[in-house]
Amino acid sequence: MAPLPTWTTPLFACCMLTLVVGCTGPRRGGAGPKIYICTDLEGASGVYKFTQTRERETPLAIEAREYFMGDLAAVVRGLRDAGASEIVVLDGHGNGAILPHLIPPGARCITGTPRPGPLAGLDETFDGLVMLSFHAMMGTPDGVLCHTQSSRTENRYWYNGVESGELAQIAAIAGHFGVPPIMVSGDEATCRETRQFVGNDCVTVAVKKGLNREAAELWPFAETRRALHDGAKCAVAAIPRCKPYTIRLPIQAKKQWLVFDKPDAPGRLETKEGTITDILTLLDF
Ligand SMILES: [Zn+2]
Repeated sequence: MAPLPTWTTPLFACCMLTLVVGCTGPRRGGAGPKIYICTDLEGASGVYKFTQTRERETPLAIEAREYFMGDLAAVVRGLRDAGASEIVVLDGHGNGAILPHLIPPGARCITGTPRPGPLAGLDETFDGLVMLSFHAMMGTPDGVLCHTQSSRTENRYWYNGVESGELAQIAAIAGHFGVPPIMVSGDEATCRETRQFVGNDCVTVAVKKGLNREAAELWPFAETRRALHDGAKCAVAAIPRCKPYTIRLPIQAKKQWLVFDKPDAPGRLETKEGTITDILTLLDF
């Protein structure tokens, strides 16, 4: 029998705390918290093959995006149940994952390109960042569909000597606006990476367990979505304890990626090193 989605001890502790002190009360003159959700696709319930994420219009790709929208709906419901007054969603997957007819009530979704800045719509007025359907960094042995920015060219990034994946990149950009990560969801490896980078106060919700890059133990959607809903409620309660994630500037950066001289040739490793002085340009390096 499949185990229940993994709830970490900190998450459980957070829920208990909520019951005791009721820390989801009104903020900012009566309005509930403003939450920004940055989404991806590889970390959604039921997604474990690149054929589900690299295309846009194939039956497999459309089905995967429906899975993702079901996860998003569960998170938005949880945030609203906890009193969130405004929820902005950024369609962060490379070729988009939002299906407009399934946008859940209470959310506004930003999609399409080009967009103003790496996290369009985010500013200092937000209280928390949720990273939904995220995945572990390139090279994670048990990371389902693990990659950092480009799965095909197998990019890897080091900032001040620390290899970092997408969740650290997005958290660092949000950190520029003083917005803390309050919840991350993906496979178990993504949750582990979250604790490594942003600590235990950020709620983590695993929706599957990775066995390899394109192999996973999948769990019933009824269970993963219940965990996402309840995790989102806990995430709102965790806001007062969550700290923005920052990387010390200027950043000494290194990037490694594969270049394919011919379509069927083995990749050739390229390396670039440099300095990043503005965190908002992090993803341009
Ligand atoms: Zn990604």
